[in-house]
Amino acid sequence: MSNSKTLQVNGRSYPWMKQAVVVVCVDGCEQEYINQAIQAGVTPFLKKLAAQGTVLTGDCVVPSFTNPNNLSIVTGAPPSVHGICGNYFLDREANQEVMMNDAKYLRAGTLFEAFSNAGAKVAVITAKDKLRSLLGHKMRGGICFSAEKADQATLEQNGVENLLELVGMPLPSVYSAELSEFVFAAGVKLLETQRPDIMYLSTTDYIQHKFAPGTPGANAFYAMMDHYLTQLDALGAVIGLTADHGMNAKTDSAGTPNVIYLQDVLDAKAGNGKTRVILPITDPYVVHHGALGSYATVYLNEGADLASVTRQISAIPGIELVLTRSEAAARFELPEDRIGDLVVVSERLTVIGTSASRHDLSELKLPLRSHGGISEQRVPLMFNRRLGAIPSDHRLRNFDVFFLAMNAAA
Ligand code: ZN
Ligand code: ZN
Repeated sequence: MSNSKTLQVNGRSYPWMKQAVVVVCVDGCEQEYINQAIQAGVTPFLKKLAAQGTVLTGDCVVPSFTNPNNLSIVTGAPPSVHGICGNYFLDREANQEVMMNDAKYLRAGTLFEAFSNAGAKVAVITAKDKLRSLLGHKMRGGICFSAEKADQATLEQNGVENLLELVGMPLPSVYSAELSEFVFAAGVKLLETQRPDIMYLSTTDYIQHKFAPGTPGANAFYAMMDHYLTQLDALGAVIGLTADHGMNAKTDSAGTPNVIYLQDVLDAKAGNGKTRVILPITDPYVVHHGALGSYATVYLNEGADLASVTRQISAIPGIELVLTRSEAAARFELPEDRIGDLVVVSERLTVIGTSASRHDLSELKLPLRSHGGISEQRVPLMFNRRLGAIPSDHRLRNFDVFFLAMNAAA
C-alpha cells in the first residue's frame, strides 16, 4: 500500500492505517465512570492516557441510544445520513411500530464495508447480537460476531469458529458483565492470532444501568476493561475509546423512578387515540431499564393540533424540550421520515414512558439508571496516542473516533 492511500466514506477521507486500529465503544460510559475508576486507582492504563495519549470529550447522537450511536461511529456520520435513529419508528401506513434493527434500514455504507472491500482485514465484535448484522452489513470477509451467540459462530458466517475455546471463557449470559468481558478477551486473542487491521469492540451497558460511577460494581468493570486495554496497547494497536452515550440516575431521592407516562397524559389532555407515543429505546432486552429512557417521539392522528399538543407536553414537569419534526431533524441530525411529528426530551433525572400499564417495572431491582436525552450526550474520546491539534471550531463527536484513530495510525 502506498503511504498516501485514502478512502472516502460518507464524505470523509480516511487514511490507510500502518498500525492496527482498535476502536472501543463502551456502552453507557459516562465520563465519570472513568474518572472515578482512575481516582480509585483501579485503571492504571486509563490513567496513563492523560499523560501519554489524548483525553477529549465529544457529543454523541441524540437520541442517546445504542443503535443510532453505534451506526454513527461505524459510518462516521449522523443518523440523517445512515438512517438509524432508534430501535423503532412508526410505519404510518401499516400503523405499526417497526423495528429498525434490520440492515435494510441502513442508508449509508460503513467504514468496515469500505475498508474490507479495499483489502483490509476487519474484525467486529459486539456484546449483543442485535447490533451484529447492522455493523457487519456488506463487509467483505473478515470477522463479525456477538458474544451473545459466540457459541454459534462459524467460519462461513462469522469468519471465526471455536470461539469459546479460543477466548477461554464459557458463553456469557446476555445480562452480565461477562458479556462485555468476552468482547474484550476475544479482541485481545484476535489481535494476537489474526492481527486485523481494523477492529471494533462494542460492549453492553448492563453494568452502567445497574451501578453508578465510583461504586464497587462499576469500578470492577472498568478494572476488567483496563486489564484488556493494557494488552491491546502492548500488542501495538492504536486504541480509540468512546461511548455510544452516557448514563444517569432517573429517580427521586427515595430511589423511585421519575417517569412521565406520556401516552396517559396525552390521552387525558388531547383525547384518546389522538396521539401515538413511540419510545425508540424499546428493545427485546428491557430488563435493566424497563424500556424507559429520556427521549420519545409523538405521532399526531387526525384531529390533533400540533401547537396545543406541544403546549401540553411542554407544561409537564420534567420535560426539557419539545421540538417539531423539522426542528428535531435539524438540531439532532435525524432522518425526518423516521421520527414523529414531535420529538420530546426529558430532563436528566426523568424518563418518558408510554402508558403505565405497558411498563413492567417489577424486574427493576435497583434504582433506575438510563439514557436517551441531551443529559447523556457528553462522552469520552480517549486515545493511546498523542493526536494533533483539533481545530477549535470542530464540534467533536463520538463518531469522529475512527477518523482520529486512523489518522493517528497512518
Ligand atoms: Zn448503549
Ligand atoms: Zn442502555
